[in-house]
Amino acid sequence: MRGSRSARHLRTGAVTAASLGVFLRYGPALSSIAAIRRGPYRYLLGEGRDDHLALTFDDGPDPLSTPLILNELDRLSLTATFFMLGSMAEANPSVVHEVLSAGHEVAVHGNWHRNHLFRSARTIRYDIERAVGTLGAICGTTPTYFRPPYGVATRPTLLTASQLALKPVLWGAWGRDWRRLATPTSVLHDVKKDLRPGTTILLHDADCTSYPGSFRATLGALRPLAELCEENRLQLGPLREHGF
Ligand SMILES: [Zn+2]
Repeated sequence: MRGSRSARHLRTGAVTAASLGVFLRYGPALSSIAAIRRGPYRYLLGEGRDDHLALTFDDGPDPLSTPLILNELDRLSLTATFFMLGSMAEANPSVVHEVLSAGHEVAVHGNWHRNHLFRSARTIRYDIERAVGTLGAICGTTPTYFRPPYGVATRPTLLTASQLALKPVLWGAWGRDWRRLATPTSVLHDVKKDLRPGTTILLHDADCTSYPGSFRATLGALRPLAELCEENRLQLGPLREHGF
């Protein structure tokens, strides 16, 4: 429901600075949500229409965990955006095809899961270009969205994305589902903390950079998350339907 009272109850008024590595690069003045929302980097938060939440997964495709996530999304009649690593896609092209044939959207998370903060502009460009090439070849289309590993976007990151016509998207809420102690309950709790209408949600469909098996917490959180959205009359879907 657009602007409904129940939807407004989801507002928390704050996104943690830690979830927005990009802003730490530009100094502490930008690390509060008020500054972020006023500032020039607000567009990176992936804020969409008020009756919609974008559901996104990072770090796949993984032959063990990604199909489990796909099955659960199918049971819940949900579609999402998968920010894939080029290296993982190259090793598991059939899983990329599974994602696509289930109606989901494939996006770029880089070729390797490396923090851009201390990397050269040339290395960053090579990494992103290689991922775009790999994913483009497997998918048959050029991806639209890009999310840097760890949410750390430096100036060369954003410049390269722009030159490759990729739209950079971080997130406004996350499930902290990579942790050893993550459970479905904790994932849902953490997502809810920063949820507001139009938020982009970050989860993980693979544990290649997370605690082994942590994707099971994500898996268990999907149904209650879907129910929460239904109760609040918020649609949950991919970035291409997010209206931003
Ligand atoms: Zn990642």
